Amino acid sequence: MSSLNYAALLDYLSDVDSGRMRTLLDQADQVRRQTIGNEVYLRGLIEYSNHCCRDCFYCGLRRGNRELTRYQMNQEEIVEYARQAYQAGFHSLALQSGEMVDKKGVDNLVEIIGRIKSITGNDGTPGLGITLSVGELSYADYERLFAAGAHRYLLRIETSNPELFARLHPADQSLQRRIECLEALKAIGYQVGTGVMVGLPGQTVEDLVGDLRFFLEQDIDMLGLGPFISHPQTPLYHQAANPEIDPLRHTLIVMALARILMPDINMVASTALQSLHTNGLTWGLKAGANIVMPVITPAEYRENYSIYSGKQYKSWQQIQSEVETAGYQVGLWKWGDSLHWYKRRITRPILEADQYHREDKL
Ligand code: SAH
Repeated sequence: MSSLNYAALLDYLSDVDSGRMRTLLDQADQVRRQTIGNEVYLRGLIEYSNHCCRDCFYCGLRRGNRELTRYQMNQEEIVEYARQAYQAGFHSLALQSGEMVDKKGVDNLVEIIGRIKSITGNDGTPGLGITLSVGELSYADYERLFAAGAHRYLLRIETSNPELFARLHPADQSLQRRIECLEALKAIGYQVGTGVMVGLPGQTVEDLVGDLRFFLEQDIDMLGLGPFISHPQTPLYHQAANPEIDPLRHTLIVMALARILMPDINMVASTALQSLHTNGLTWGLKAGANIVMPVITPAEYRENYSIYSGKQYKSWQQIQSEVETAGYQVGLWKWGDSLHWYKRRITRPILEADQYHREDKL
């Protein structure tokens, strides 16, 4: 859709009239159905630890939040939840945590991935597909996790504007470092996902256009973007957002534009979007999302994975029913990899699984 130049994108994001937005969402839905079909893939999300060494100004897990009860699920628990998820029909799992830069944390994760792979892949199938979202690590650590069996990685850049990034993070974090991580992940062979928050204090519509351009330039495989939802135990809590950005509408518009610009990527209807509005999931799907990540973190830990306030959880069954009511189909027994990645893949280790799922043999 070459007509979506900078001015057209800015125009869509500056005038969020309801009729116009509906037409845009319809266009995105059409592109999605023509390119990747109407299937929606589920990733069971296990938020296995809320310990975090970073101090991001927007996030409730930040190191400086002393009011949070910290937890770390042990290997047995994680592997058991993964096994149950596999038996229940999930074929992909996402493991997420606060950030850990120590070797012990990576060693632990390598072992967990190995164990999950061995118990779910012992029936002649490739087992559970594993997505990681554990932040900035070294090239060597990303390589170890890939070799252990993880094959997708999500690392949001949060905003593509370096100045805004600097206002949202302590001085020891930089947008440049995130970009280097994305490049490392891609070179290693992961399917690489990134994303931003929409409605951040200080963010402009021009920034959102910049975000879309960034995603295109980076040639990403997966996208996860969601509204910023303020958390009382963070420095950003008292900062006013830009009234020109409506976190809900603008998230949907950016998603729809992303689907039109990048027809073959995987895009998630984020938990934050679902938390902001009861119809968030349905609207996210209509704006082009083809991935949902039902939270399967054990109930006892969930409330302490409080990235933002008012996080809402829907059961897998409820999600499946909403997906079907919205006119889509849950893709079972498949990893549901990014079509974009299939087209640009560069490494061998996943080819067997790839072949397996392509042919859909069980
Ligand atoms: N530590 C991991 C994953 C945990 S945070 C990582 O860095 O990738 C996952 C995502 O939650 C972040 O990338 C951010 O985009 C989002 N997030 C954090 N605080 C938020 C808030 N207040 N509102 C909405 N989303 C938030």
